[in-house]
Amino acid sequence: EAVVHWFKRDLRVGDNTGLSKAAGLAKEKGVGVIGLWIMSPQDWEAHLVSPAKCDFELRSVAVLQKELAKLGIPLWIETVKVRKNVPERLMELARQWGAKNVFCNLEYEPDELRREEKLIRLGVEKGVNVEPCHDDCVVPPGSLKTGAGKQYAVYSPWYRAWVAHLHAHPHLLADRPSPSTNPSNFRAKFVNLFESAIPQAPESKHLSGDAQKSHLAALYPAGEAAALDRLTLFLTEKIGRYSVTRNFPSAKSTACVSMHHAAGTLAARTSVRMARDVNSTKKLDGGVEGIRGWIGEVAWRDFYRHVLVNWPYVCMNKPFKFEYTNIEWEYSDDHFRAWTEGRTGYPIVDAAMRCLNQTAYMHNRLRMITASFLAKHLLLDWRLGEQYFISHLVDGDFASNNGGWGFSSSTGVDPQPYFRVFNPWLQSTKFDAEGEFIRNWVPELEVIEGAGIHNPYEAGGKAAEVAKKNGYPKPIVEHKFARERCLARYKAGIGRS
Ligand code: FAD
Repeated sequence: EAVVHWFKRDLRVGDNTGLSKAAGLAKEKGVGVIGLWIMSPQDWEAHLVSPAKCDFELRSVAVLQKELAKLGIPLWIETVKVRKNVPERLMELARQWGAKNVFCNLEYEPDELRREEKLIRLGVEKGVNVEPCHDDCVVPPGSLKTGAGKQYAVYSPWYRAWVAHLHAHPHLLADRPSPSTNPSNFRAKFVNLFESAIPQAPESKHLSGDAQKSHLAALYPAGEAAALDRLTLFLTEKIGRYSVTRNFPSAKSTACVSMHHAAGTLAARTSVRMARDVNSTKKLDGGVEGIRGWIGEVAWRDFYRHVLVNWPYVCMNKPFKFEYTNIEWEYSDDHFRAWTEGRTGYPIVDAAMRCLNQTAYMHNRLRMITASFLAKHLLLDWRLGEQYFISHLVDGDFASNNGGWGFSSSTGVDPQPYFRVFNPWLQSTKFDAEGEFIRNWVPELEVIEGAGIHNPYEAGGKAAEVAKKNGYPKPIVEHKFARERCLARYKAGIGRS
């Protein structure tokens, strides 16, 4: 007999609720734990997972396999081509291994919930206990209610409730015990399970060439030890000033752990606990402002998941705000392509998009600027941008991405008001004052000195000359026109609903 833990978006050994419970039960029964990871190319296709994220996951699985092996726990890896067959295959493996208990951590999107429901039903038929655990959110979805007993749709009161809930239920932030070593006779019984090879990403998810592969591997080292290193560095050197520095892309002042939260090489719980523990108050509130602020950002991740669980239609291409369903969008392949390639003539937008294309990551302030630009300046359907982001980001995460696009396009939960249209040049002068970020990513403008870099054609003189000579495009839409068009279309769209 053995107890199985099915790894999904929780590619770590430490602080893992499902794995910890599986290991606890195995110990009680005096049996061993088997880890399982299933690659489902169809799932990756259907959810537009980026090649960078697939590569990050595969590298994380390789690290996980080594870490588990140190405990005598095998990680068996399967590729199941048709995703609806995953539950059957899982049950078949449980039968082969004589496992009567399968643990995993819950994923909250509808497709995943349906899959787990099927797995539980099959388990009931076959006498296998399937136990999905709450782990991905710090506070399990459904725990927080407004005074009227409803799900919050506004972040600030939700956040106050989130903090109060965690202070009242400290076990939610406690570290989950790591598994102990499998019994000594286990390896002999299941020796073939220790030889599972890490698969190649499916062809459609290949990175373009070895150079890109090693570039991303250097930027984003995989696995939980790498995640903890990154978090520790941030907590010791940067978090104190986070509230002041977090909006400046060139400052490299954020934790850059989102890819770890997305792959589960780092639990959001671990992040919040460790940040709390460096706070002078040892609490989530009070104490150092930067720490409070950072915990508040990690909480946004929970917030968007809670929203998704309560209003699953956000997973079905619907705006959270019903009255924003009827906005009349523009249709322009040229504009969309210019946006994706970083050729809009707005240097901060172009720098951000080129950074995304080359590094599979973008700073939060730039995500807001580029998203607002697509939905409001170009008046292109925000869902095009949402899809482009998820299919290029190394940290692509449905709930956070959907939430971010909803916020920036004003169609989502607790959004920017629609009449607040970011002026990309003002954003640029404010958050990239010296033009350092632009210079880094838009080589056509590199030699421009001073403020002209933010809007070279408007600045005229040398800046305009350089931009023209180097073939940098003129703005593809005029700012004032775009702003007015946006306000009119949003207003008319809301009126029609
Ligand atoms: P830090 O500033 O160090 O924050 C710490 C952690 O808090 C992050 O790792 C992340 O897990 C969480 N977090 C921070 N801000 C947010 C936020 N606004 N919403 C939800 N969680 C947050 N984040 C993703 O993880 N995946 C996405 O696909 C994604 N798409 C986005 C799309 C748009 C249009 C916008 C505006 C934001 C998006 N975000 C997304 C949120 C945010 O931009 C990233 O989480 C952040 O930039 C990651 O960098 P970091 O780890 O250095 O963040």
